[in-house]
This record gives sequence, structure tokens and C-alpha cells, in this order.
Amino acid sequence: MANDLNLERSISNYAVFGNPVKHSKSPRIHSLFAEQTGIKLNYQAIEVPLEKFSEYVSLFSSQGGLGLNITIPFKEEACSICTTLTERARLSGSVNTIRFDKQLNIYGDTTDGQGFINDLTVNNEINLEGKSILILGAGGSVRALLEPLCKQKPDQIVIANRTVSRAEELADKFSELSSIIACAYSDLAGHSFDLIINGTSLSLSGELPAIPETVIKESTCCYDLMYSDVATVFMDWAKQNGAVKVLDGLGMLVEQAAESFLIWHGVKPDTTPVIKTLRSASN
Ligand code: NDP
Repeated sequence: MANDLNLERSISNYAVFGNPVKHSKSPRIHSLFAEQTGIKLNYQAIEVPLEKFSEYVSLFSSQGGLGLNITIPFKEEACSICTTLTERARLSGSVNTIRFDKQLNIYGDTTDGQGFINDLTVNNEINLEGKSILILGAGGSVRALLEPLCKQKPDQIVIANRTVSRAEELADKFSELSSIIACAYSDLAGHSFDLIINGTSLSLSGELPAIPETVIKESTCCYDLMYSDVATVFMDWAKQNGAVKVLDGLGMLVEQAAESFLIWHGVKPDTTPVIKTLRSASN
């Protein structure tokens, strides 16, 4: 077991725990937020061995760490070690933000869903009220964005997933908040949507979910939760099939980080210049 995480004693320490985590943009984003708000902090990416998540959380807190972001594959496990969970973290079964206090309480929250909504509705001015939404995938990130998505009062949400039972489980769980149905990709023929969200992990391997191009109509906006320096295959596919707007998950990443920053520091940073800096760095 590592017994020293090399935290700086003279400054507030934060980190993102993940595996792998080397390519995380979170340290860069939080240092840009810190610069902008004049808050001094140290934020690092720590690769946590798969079996040692709770051990590392205790170690980080005992060495004076104040807050953590949690990423793949620990978001669900993080839920189980928190002493207090926000309602949205409990509902989604996922924690991406942890805050420690002096009594050693561990507060868990998820800001992924709110980050997604902020990017869509504020940064991109997309109004979801009365709209039809197709979500591809039924994993952790989709689970985290369903509650804030339902609050936007869409007309209908359809969740399509390779494993239909996982989509059905989510549709059942959130059915009181909105009209939600689950289906297989093959059931989508003949239907089109205002917004299509790719919440599968297929973009990571350069693949597309097996959906018909007729899900796109003239006014359709497509959003891939994944971000990379080049357009994903899903984004290329959406452009080729006439989507009016095609977005990646970089805005969501910065927005969820801003919500975490607010939880830890009580200040909401301006995300626009940070998104711009990251985009220009990747071009
Ligand atoms: P999960 O592993 O929890 O879910 C993966 C989903 O992809 C499941 O629905 C799974 O279907 C589907 N899938 C995987 N392989 C295949 C396949 N071969 N064919 C069809 N479907 C497949 O992943 P997450 O929800 O955590 O992440 C999903 C995406 O969201 C990733 O690209 C991630 O990078 C991105 N993300 C972006 C964030 C941001 O801030 N921008 C934040 C969090 C995530 P099945 O249920 O059938 O296995």
C-alpha cells in the first residue's frame, strides 16, 4: 500500500481518483479555475489500484486532502463509502465529487448530470422543454444525467441500449419524473428525435451504436458525451446525416468540474474562458 500521497502540507489539496487517470484534464481545469478565482490549491490526478479505492480515500483524507473527484471505474464504489449522499447521487447510484470535513464525514455528490444540462442549455442555448430525446446507452453517465434531464420537462425520453434490460431498469426508476420508454436499437426504425445523446462507451473504440440514420431529422441536435481532440465517429455520423448541431462532451467536463469547484470553494467559476483554452490547446 502507498503510505504517502505526497500532498503539499501548506496548501489545500484536491485530486481526481481514477484508473487509468493519466490523461485526465481535471488538474488543468481546476488550476485554471483557481487562477481565475484567486483560490490557492493543489489538484492532482492519482491512479488508484483497482482493489484499493477506499484505502486511498482514507489515506487522502488522513493526509489533509479536502476533496476528490472520482472517475472511471470508481463512481459506483464511491457511493458506497460516503457517509452522506445528496439526493441526486443517491438516485443515480454514482458519486463524482467527495468533500471531507473535520469530523471525517464523507459527503458524496454527482455533478455530471448538472454539468451536461449546463452545457446544453446555457452554453449551447438548447431548450429541452417539449422536446423528444433519444439516449443511446444505459450506463453510469446516463444514469447520472436522467434526473436533471427530466427536470427540463421534455415531451418524451427514449433510452435505447444493447442490453435492453438495463434501459428498462432506468426507465422504471425515473418513470415518475418524465415519460420514459426503453427499447433496443432495432426498435428505432421509423422514429426521429430533437436531441440524440450518445452515452455509450463505443466512441472510445471508434465504433457506432447500430442505429438507423433516420433517427436524425432537420432540427436534430446530437451530443456525444465523450470528448477527444478530434471529432468522434458518432459526431462524424451525425454531421453526415444532417444534424443541425453536433456537440462533444468537453463542455460537460468543464461544467461538471465547475459544479465540483462550487461545492468545495463556494464559488462558481466562469466556464467559458476555460472551455476556450482547452479547445485551443487541442487544435
Ligand atoms: P458505462 O461503462 O457505465 O456504460 C457503457 C455503455 O455503453 C452501456 O450502455 C453499454 O451497453 C454500452 N456499450 C459498451 N460497449 C458496447 C458495444 N460493443 N455495443 C453496444 N453498446 C455498448 O460507461 P459510462 O456511462 O461511464 O461512460 C459512457 C461515455 O460517457 C464514455 O464515452 C465516457 O467517456 C463518457 N463520459 C463523459 C463525461 C464528460 O464529462 N464529458 C463524464 C462521464 C462519462 P450495455 O449496457 O449493453 O453493456
